[in-house]
Amino acid sequence: RFVAIALLTGFLSVVAGQLRPMPSAGLPGDLFGLGIASRIRTDHNSTAKASTDFGQMVNAAPEAVFHPATPADIAELIRFSASSAAPFPVAPRGEGHSWRGQALAPGGVVVDMSSLGRGHRAPRINVSAAGAEPFVDAGGEQLWIDVLRATLQHGLAPRVWTDYLRLTVGGTLSNAGIGGQAFRHGPQIANVQELDVVTGTGEMVTCSRDMNSDLFFAALGGLGQFGVITRARIRLEPAPKRVRWVRLAYSDVATFTKDQEFLISKRTDQIKFDYVEGQVQLNRSFIEGPKSTPFFSGTDLARLASKTGSAAIYYIEAAMYYTEDTAILVDKKMKALLDHLSFEKGFVFTKDVTFLQFLDRVREEESVLRSAGVWEVPHPWLNLFVPRSRILDFDNGVFKALLKDANPAGIILMYPMNKDMWDDRMTAMTPTTNDDVFYAVSMLWSALSMDDVPQLERGNKAVLDFCYQQGIECKQYLPHYTSQDGWQQHFGTKWSKIAELKARYDPQALLSPGQRIFSKPV
Ligand code: FAD
Repeated sequence: RFVAIALLTGFLSVVAGQLRPMPSAGLPGDLFGLGIASRIRTDHNSTAKASTDFGQMVNAAPEAVFHPATPADIAELIRFSASSAAPFPVAPRGEGHSWRGQALAPGGVVVDMSSLGRGHRAPRINVSAAGAEPFVDAGGEQLWIDVLRATLQHGLAPRVWTDYLRLTVGGTLSNAGIGGQAFRHGPQIANVQELDVVTGTGEMVTCSRDMNSDLFFAALGGLGQFGVITRARIRLEPAPKRVRWVRLAYSDVATFTKDQEFLISKRTDQIKFDYVEGQVQLNRSFIEGPKSTPFFSGTDLARLASKTGSAAIYYIEAAMYYTEDTAILVDKKMKALLDHLSFEKGFVFTKDVTFLQFLDRVREEESVLRSAGVWEVPHPWLNLFVPRSRILDFDNGVFKALLKDANPAGIILMYPMNKDMWDDRMTAMTPTTNDDVFYAVSMLWSALSMDDVPQLERGNKAVLDFCYQQGIECKQYLPHYTSQDGWQQHFGTKWSKIAELKARYDPQALLSPGQRIFSKPV
């Protein structure tokens, strides 16, 4: 009988000109009578795809996946849920590149943001190049690589980039969006001028620093809690043509951090780097890991190992932008900067690439990892912001002790940012100590099998416990807590404001439930 009803429903829907989905037992039946119903999918294939993420450590199916054609469709879905006798959760999903289920909606509806960008008559990336302050209006669903390509056509580009560009505008702005340019320009959220947001009551609101500013600041770094970002206006600058990209090796952490901090203090000088990051290579991975990298040959690494006694190695990665006609100047500037630095003599490795190649560099690594079958594996990543005043204690306790004999697959990033480039009115958190500099430390582990996950998770917990015991205020970036207590500690004095904004913009606590911040109406 069930099959007969299903067939009949399908038949009637096709006759009506729209393929309507089967109502899902867990969602109100009226939902399937709305005009947007033809965009809802309840079949197993659709829900299975929205049940996990890049991290592959959480699996929870939604009741349905929604493919909106316009932001108004999202508003209609949320309004329906908010006014329903049985409200259901709604999670916008960008690329699902989170790792702890943040974009999942168990028992609710996942909004597949990518469908906003499809088949549109009006393009959803619009560059305004004419004025003195150029900007791009990009749909929240757009990938940063597409924003880059569109803006480059006008000789322009956003100022701050994540290392990987297959992430959506809405997904990174819901966190902060950090990378090697953030020391100069702040995180991506500090470079946004205006947003269109669909709130948790289904209202469509345009906001900026001067208009509906509390929603603007709440949504930036807001972990999807206050609304769905459907458009962001992002500041642009003239794009360089080429990039001189260097990697400098260090055996001593104090020298490494001193040099990094020197480089990020040069924000406005004529002679400066445009991008500064850093990496840590652990003892065992150095000896047992791959014998060559895109920067270093096997011979270089052997030379480095013999010189340093194979202690942990640190690398500054920095880049200077230029256009062809300033190539000679860039050599001079580079020399002037390198003369100030104390890397291991002779261990400077240089590449020269186009701006696009530089920004899209992780794509190449992705292809290599995919072909080796180690991209789509569990990723128990841990990202921390560590105050400058405790970074050497962190290094000593974590890299030189806890992880001393470990050889996890993955990479460790470590680079400083200037705190005054972050706007504390936004939801994103930085350490609350008095330090004017803090370090992003990203432990980007790959579990080569599911069996490796518990051990890596124990390692992550040991790092967090170490910080707690030593009184090091390590603020999680891309945070994950399993209890509201954890979130309250994370937000500290901002918590009451967060709860107040949640009560105003998403009182039923519908949005992005996978963050596990609010589980019931506020
Ligand atoms: P999703 O995983 O789909 O969503 C993340 C969260 O945001 C969810 O809670 C979701 O509900 C919410 N959300 C999604 N879209 C919207 C929207 N339009 N409006 C409101 N809420 C929304 N981060 C950095 O800062 N710097 C880096 O260099 C960096 N490198 C990375 C490299 C890789 C390989 C990966 C996998 C991640 C990296 N990240 C980096 C982390 C990344 O920025 C976040 O995981 C980001 O959330 C992923 O974007 P997404 O579009 O896949 O979001």
